[in-house]
Amino acid sequence: MKTSELFRDRTVLSFEVFPPKPTSDETVIYKTLEELAKLRPDCVSVTYGAGGGANCEKTVQIASDVKNKYGIESVAHLPCVYLSENDAVNILDKLKANGIENILALRGDISENTAPNGRFSHANELIEFICERYDFNIITACYPEKHFEAESLSEDLTHLKNKVDSGAAQLITQLFLDNRYFYDFLEQARKIGINVPVEAGIMPVVNAKQITRMVKLCGIKLPEKFRKVIEKYGDNPTAMYDAGIAYAIDQIVDLLSQGVDGIHLYTMNNAYVAERIYNAVYSLISVKTG
Ligand code: FAD
Repeated sequence: MKTSELFRDRTVLSFEVFPPKPTSDETVIYKTLEELAKLRPDCVSVTYGAGGGANCEKTVQIASDVKNKYGIESVAHLPCVYLSENDAVNILDKLKANGIENILALRGDISENTAPNGRFSHANELIEFICERYDFNIITACYPEKHFEAESLSEDLTHLKNKVDSGAAQLITQLFLDNRYFYDFLEQARKIGINVPVEAGIMPVVNAKQITRMVKLCGIKLPEKFRKVIEKYGDNPTAMYDAGIAYAIDQIVDLLSQGVDGIHLYTMNNAYVAERIYNAVYSLISVKTG
């Protein structure tokens, strides 16, 4: 099923997982998926190694298992900046052959050490390429605090509109820790005619080190409220764990009460954290507003 159709009658809940590193135990991800599957999310998305070369085997395999083994709609992430046209066709054909109907079309981060392939410079080019040749549902990324390379949010939104006009039917945001960024972003996006469903990307931050890395990597701001949490609990792993989960629940409750289209939980492959959050909010997700 095309996940963009889910938004017609519900607030969508999706989970994101990443494939294991080559050196890790391959079976762990399947234990995680088994636990996540019990929560019956609307879909599970599977990331594609940072940067995104042509080696997509694990993403395709896991996305295929999510759909065909666990019976949950799956989304395969596809960053394009290091792909040739042939690479893209090979991957897209594999996804299609495995019954996967949803693709999160991305550019991917550009590494200082490796030059891009040159065929796809931005996500909109991949979206156009896919839409001309296939019948996938296309999802794409957006950034409530703007993408770190963009000069301004309005410049970033112009590019986002281009991605939607190219065929993206659904958006998922980068994580944010202050819902006000999301609401401002959404208001501006709707004003310029971006009318597709937008899922809010929420990452439970369960250790202080993790957030320092994310702030640097994604260019997001650390709100005073979260800084206080780290100040008080950062040195106490158990307390920080609980505080991080509570903070994410608080964000989600606020988003749901404001009528958000969907919640995309960056699970970091931690089914226990996902379950705690799910248990705290599942009754709110099924409540219709308006
Ligand atoms: P683009 O949409 O191409 O945008 C990148 C920058 O270029 C922005 O500043 C934008 O304003 C600008 N821009 C866009 N279009 C144009 C244009 N036509 N001309 C000029 N400028 C333009 N990375 C991975 O490697 N693997 C993953 O699995 C993965 N999953 C992600 C999931 C989500 C929900 C999100 C939010 C991000 C994910 N990323 C992933 C990270 C993503 O690849 C990076 O943020 C990357 O730097 C930008 O990708 P993009 O698709 O947003 O790029």
